[in-house]
Amino acid sequence: MDFALSDILAARQAIDGIARRTPLIASPALTIRGGCEILLKLETLQPIGAFKIRGAAHALSRLGAKARERGVVCCSTGNHGRAVAYAAKRLGVPVTVCLSDLVPQNKVEAIKALGATVVRRGKSQDEAQIEADRLVAENELTDMPPFDHPDVILGQGTIALELLEDRPDLETLVVPLSGGGLIGGVALAAKMIKPQIRIIGVTMERGAAMHESIKAGKPVEVKEYASLADSLGGGIGNPNRWTFDLCRNYVDETVLVSEDEIYRGMRALFLDDRIVTEGGAAVGAAALLAGKLAIRGPAAFVISGQNVDMQKFLGVARGEPVTLGDLTVKG
Ligand SMILES: *Cc1c(COP(=O)(O)O)cnc(C)c1O
Repeated sequence: MDFALSDILAARQAIDGIARRTPLIASPALTIRGGCEILLKLETLQPIGAFKIRGAAHALSRLGAKARERGVVCCSTGNHGRAVAYAAKRLGVPVTVCLSDLVPQNKVEAIKALGATVVRRGKSQDEAQIEADRLVAENELTDMPPFDHPDVILGQGTIALELLEDRPDLETLVVPLSGGGLIGGVALAAKMIKPQIRIIGVTMERGAAMHESIKAGKPVEVKEYASLADSLGGGIGNPNRWTFDLCRNYVDETVLVSEDEIYRGMRALFLDDRIVTEGGAAVGAAALLAGKLAIRGPAAFVISGQNVDMQKFLGVARGEPVTLGDLTVKG
């Protein structure tokens, strides 16, 4: 991928006023546990409660007049759909969101509330995508992929600009990993600014599509499971055009966490740092608490989103068992 720092700077300008610059705060508790300074990048404070507003706002801002008029369609485990719906509304673009049946109801409601048309189809991300493809072919809508798109990747990369402006001395970035748009953009931008910085991706054990793909040397499909980290579900797309190579080239290490570890990560971020997170945002803390990260500080953890079902979250906060499909998670 042939991008320059100026592309990331242009993306930042394009999303200004839709996405916000988020704070980087100290985590005294994780700093003690990690043995080095640990900071939290609070993407939970974005307008839709997750970083995906950056990529969506940037990609939409780059559409031509015809495409804007016809509208866009996307397929998402929730936060991307919500981000596209929010940015599209701000930019006056009609939007349809296709969701699989695994997406939690709170996320569906949030997308509808933003004025998007919602279509529910299939048992997986890939099946929902087939419906999106049909709408593209029949109604000439523009597809807005959640991660495998250069403008989405560049939008997510603006996080790295902010991180290294706030703290040029950062040695390690710990980033949640699913399709790789977030970590791909962050790694690309961060390493252009500071080549020696280490980028660690963390994802859940069950359905770790990018991790398995990197291991296999090519994009592979994995089974999807219900997870506390539902926003990390889904495959990496086959064919994958951008994020697989980015992750292969720029991500230094990938780490897997169990559902129990994610539970403990969410709980610790809430009880110690008073931050409400969805499971997908807590995987870095989960890996650290599980002793799975050997990092040099100062390190920044991207806390990617807060759009958790609150009943489930309150269960975790109280230390109660949470049921996920075939699995009971106790932490
Ligand atoms: C989408 C998402 C991720 C993963 O981003 P990718 O670009 O798919 O790797 C992580 N956390 C949250 C909260 C998300 O919504």
